[in-house]
Amino acid sequence: MAQYEAVIGLEVHAQLKTKSKLFCSCSTRFGNEPNENVCPVCSGMPGVLPVMNEKVLEYAAKLGLALDCEINRKSVFARKNYFYPDLPKGYQTSQFDLPICEHGKVEIETSKGRKTIGVTRIHMEEDAGKSIHSASENVSFVDLNRACVPLVEIVSEPDMRSAEEAVAYLKSLHSILRYLDICDGNMEQGSFRCDANVSIRPLGQEAFGTRTELKNMNSFRHVQKAIEYEIERQIDLVEDGDAVTQETRLYNADKGTTHPMRGKEEAHDYRYFPCPDLVPLVLDEAWIERWQAELPELPEARRERFLREYALGEDAAVQLTAERETADFFEAAARAGQSKARKIANWVMVDVAHLLNDSGLTLADCSGTPESLAALVDLVEGGTVSAKSAKDILSEVLRHGADPKKLVQEKGLVQESDTGALEGIIDAVIAENPDEAERVRGGDKKVVGFLMGQIMRKTQGKANPGVVSKMLAKKLS
Ligand code: ADP
Ligand code: MG
Ligand code: ZN
Repeated sequence: MAQYEAVIGLEVHAQLKTKSKLFCSCSTRFGNEPNENVCPVCSGMPGVLPVMNEKVLEYAAKLGLALDCEINRKSVFARKNYFYPDLPKGYQTSQFDLPICEHGKVEIETSKGRKTIGVTRIHMEEDAGKSIHSASENVSFVDLNRACVPLVEIVSEPDMRSAEEAVAYLKSLHSILRYLDICDGNMEQGSFRCDANVSIRPLGQEAFGTRTELKNMNSFRHVQKAIEYEIERQIDLVEDGDAVTQETRLYNADKGTTHPMRGKEEAHDYRYFPCPDLVPLVLDEAWIERWQAELPELPEARRERFLREYALGEDAAVQLTAERETADFFEAAARAGQSKARKIANWVMVDVAHLLNDSGLTLADCSGTPESLAALVDLVEGGTVSAKSAKDILSEVLRHGADPKKLVQEKGLVQESDTGALEGIIDAVIAENPDEAERVRGGDKKVVGFLMGQIMRKTQGKANPGVVSKMLAKKLS
C-alpha cells in the first residue's frame, strides 16, 4: 500500500483591535445591538467615500515586520466583487496583487522539532456583515455591525505536513498577534479564524494533489480534528480509485467530520480591480523604522531568553511565553523572589493555571501579584509552610490579593521543622505501631508512608515532611 503525505496551507483572518472601522469612524465593538455601529460608508450607500484608518496600516505593517516579511512600499486596495446580502456594496475592499506584506515566515515547534513555515502574503481587508436566519419567523435579517471591521488575512505557503504542524503554526501566529496587541485572538467570537487547505500525495511525489478548503473550525482542537479527518477521507478516496474533488467543506464539530458546503468546483471570478476611491498606499521609510522600533520582544526571542536566563526546560519556556501576560507574570515573580525560577515556573504553569481556569479568571483580572506568588513560593522553599498548605491558600492570594505571610500566620499553617518538637510525636507513633516499625527496620520501605501519615495526622499536617522523613529513617535504621 502506498504511503501518503498531507500538504496543508492555511488562510487566517485576524480582526484588528482598532476602536473604529477600516474606512469610517463607526465603532468595532462586539455585542452591540444589530446595526447600531453603522453609517452610510459601511452600509454601502451610494456617493460616499471611504477614509483609510491609519491604525490598520500600522498594525498590518507591524505584523509583517514581526513575521519577517517584506513590506511593500506601495500597496493597493482592490475591489473583490461578489453578491451577498450581507455585502451591500457588492464588493469587498481587499488587496490583490499589491498586498501590504509578502514573503515572511513563522517558526513552529512540534514533537519532531522546529520548522519554518513560509508566509506568502498578508493583506488588509474589510469584514462583511452577518446574515441571521430566523427559522421561527421564516425571515432573514442582516446585521452590518461587522461590515467594514478591519481584518488582516495571512496566507501561508503549503508547507505543513500534518494537523499537528498546522495547529502549531496557528498557535504561533496567535501568540504573535497577542504579543503585538493588535488582535484579541478570540476564536469563538471569530476574531481569529482559519480556513485550512488540505491535499494528499503519495510520499516521494512532488506535484501537489487536489485540495479541499475546510471552514467552520472555531478552536484549535476543531482545526486539528477537521484536518485529521480530511486527510483520512482523502486517502480512503484515492485508495478506492476515486479522485478528490476541489471544493469547500464545512467541519461538523458534533460529528467530527467534514461535508461539502457548496456544489461544484467554483470558478472564482471576482473581477478584482484597483479601488478608484482609495489612492495607493505609499509608505514612508520613517514610518517603517518607527514601527520596527516599537515592536515588543516577540515570543520566540523571549523563549530563547527564558532558556538562557532562567535555566528552564524547553517545554516550560514554550508554555510560559505563549501568552505575554503569563510571561510577564512569571518573569516578575522570578525577579521578586529568592526561590529558583524553575520552582516559580512550576507554580505558574500548574497551580496558578488550574486555579485561574477553575475560577474563570485570567492573570489580568485576578488580584494576585507576581510578588505575592514569589512570597508564597519562598515560604514553601524555606520550609515555613508545606506545599500542600500553600496550595490551599493560593486561591486567597490570587483572588483576593491576600498577603501569603500574614495568611500563613493567621491560619496557623507554619510548618513544624523543629526536631525537638517533632521527636516526641515520632516516638509516640513508633510506640503505637510496633509491628509497622519492625517491618521498616526489616527493610520494608512501603510501610514508611503509613508511619509518615500517622505523624502528619498527629500534627494536623504541619510537620515538615522532609525533616520527619530524615528523623524517621534515622530512628528505624
Ligand atoms: P485561493 O485563491 O483559492 O484562496 P491560493 O492559491 O491563494 O488559492 O491558496 C490558498 C491557500 O491554499 C494557501 O495557503 C496555499 O498554501 C494553499 N494551497 C495551495 N495549493 C494547495 C494544495 N495543493 N494543497 C494544500 N494547500 C494548498
Ligand atoms: Mg482562499
Ligand atoms: Zn460606518
